[in-house]
Amino acid sequence: MAKITKLDDIVSLCKRRGFIFQSSEIYGGLASCYDYGPLGVELKNNVKKAWWKSVVQMRDDVVGLDCSILMHPLVWKASGHTDKFADLIAECKKCNTRSRVDHLNEQAEEHTEHIAIDKAMAAVQDLSNKVCPNCGTVGQFTDPMPFKLMFETQMGANVDDSMTMYLRPETAQGIFANFRNVLDTARVKLPFGIAQIGKSFRNEVTTKAFIFRTREFEQAELEFFCQPGTDEKWYEHWKQARFNWYVDLGLKKENLRFREHDADELAHYAKACVDVEYKFPFGSGDWQELEGIANRTDYDLRQHQRGMRTLNKWFENDQDLTNIELAGEAEDFHKGPLSYFDDEQKTRYIPYVIEPSAGIDRSTLAFLVDAYDEEEVRGETRNLLRFHPALAPVKAAVFPLVKRDGMPETAKNIYNNLKKYFNCFYDEKGAIGRRYRRQDEAGTPFCITVDGQTNEDNTVTVRDRDSMEQIRVSTDQLLNYLREKLEV
Ligand code: ATP
Repeated sequence: MAKITKLDDIVSLCKRRGFIFQSSEIYGGLASCYDYGPLGVELKNNVKKAWWKSVVQMRDDVVGLDCSILMHPLVWKASGHTDKFADLIAECKKCNTRSRVDHLNEQAEEHTEHIAIDKAMAAVQDLSNKVCPNCGTVGQFTDPMPFKLMFETQMGANVDDSMTMYLRPETAQGIFANFRNVLDTARVKLPFGIAQIGKSFRNEVTTKAFIFRTREFEQAELEFFCQPGTDEKWYEHWKQARFNWYVDLGLKKENLRFREHDADELAHYAKACVDVEYKFPFGSGDWQELEGIANRTDYDLRQHQRGMRTLNKWFENDQDLTNIELAGEAEDFHKGPLSYFDDEQKTRYIPYVIEPSAGIDRSTLAFLVDAYDEEEVRGETRNLLRFHPALAPVKAAVFPLVKRDGMPETAKNIYNNLKKYFNCFYDEKGAIGRRYRRQDEAGTPFCITVDGQTNEDNTVTVRDRDSMEQIRVSTDQLLNYLREKLEV
């Protein structure tokens, strides 16, 4: 039998245990769209909580935000997305499969940047020796053409006044568009950051590997505003802080690395960019981007000042984006509406921005992959997820050893008390060994069993998921014991 890759095992466990399902499965499924089941939604929420705790809650210099997905179309004109956010594609004349031109190279990097389409067109290479990744035909491609990555939709009930809108392809622009609001209301001073977690949408040409690259996904983004000149220091700070976040939550260090972008790979406005990469188990083990950290300089705020100056033109053009140019930059742009007045230095400037941009689904996949383990226990295979306690969907499961002698009642009482503090699960069905195995597969750090001795001395067994060791803990001490171990 062909060797099943670790990813296949994980996909199958995710389906079997209710972590992740194919979207619209009862209708045959919708490609590259996924739904998080009962365990999956807990896991993903915990990933988001851990990010929020580290990036917002534990810091005095970051505040949160939650923007709408639909934004004014000029936001995307100013950010450059309406003109540049496209991939160059070519279609195989044999099988009609469309491929990203930059992915046709043999050693194609998955993380190739989206660049201005005119620049990409100019750089396009000869495709006569390129191989179609679908059917293997050589050199039978159409001329390259741009393929827009933003999903369009219509807003407004009447055909006449409906407007073309975009589903946001990143959450960051909502932060820039609210920079002034936050500055005026949150009593913040530079350096400070604005963080947001939310859905983004990209009509990706090729999707990949389960929840790794999908067309609807969640991002966790921070825009950290600082005084120009201090940006390099903050870039280093966030680079380390974000790398440590993954390690602290249990990703093995040997599966993580930085990949600094070369100068010719950088977006024209970016001063520096680094990817945090994880060694995903696709093919023979693939280093892939988990998160990008960029020094975006003052580009975005300056672009939005230009966007604001374009508003009149847009009205004159019947609220239509096509055929309008973004207004030029004011001469005194550094004093513009998105500038910052530095009280101490009595000067006004446009702040620089450091942006750590992470994918929630992609990091959830990395946490699943790293936690997944198989081991032989007394001649049987034990599948388990060794999640960090902060990420584990269920923190403790409570069982009566058998369904008699008052054990279920005692176990229910313990369960009802513990669930006030963290997510718990109660199970009284089936052999105890099988109940343990089910919790191992769900990644539950502790199983608590009420047995015959509980009645005599008020103790229960606490079984550790990773070592499978069991100790007896007094029911009075149980909550404290678990809270200390779980750090909750
Ligand atoms: P990639 O080249 O892998 O598509 P990107 O460089 O375009 O990613 P960014 O625009 O830097 O990605 O987005 C920041 C993060 O958002 C990525 O590091 C990734 O974790 C996540 N992300 C981006 N696109 C997708 C997608 N289609 N599906 C899932 N996550 C995504």
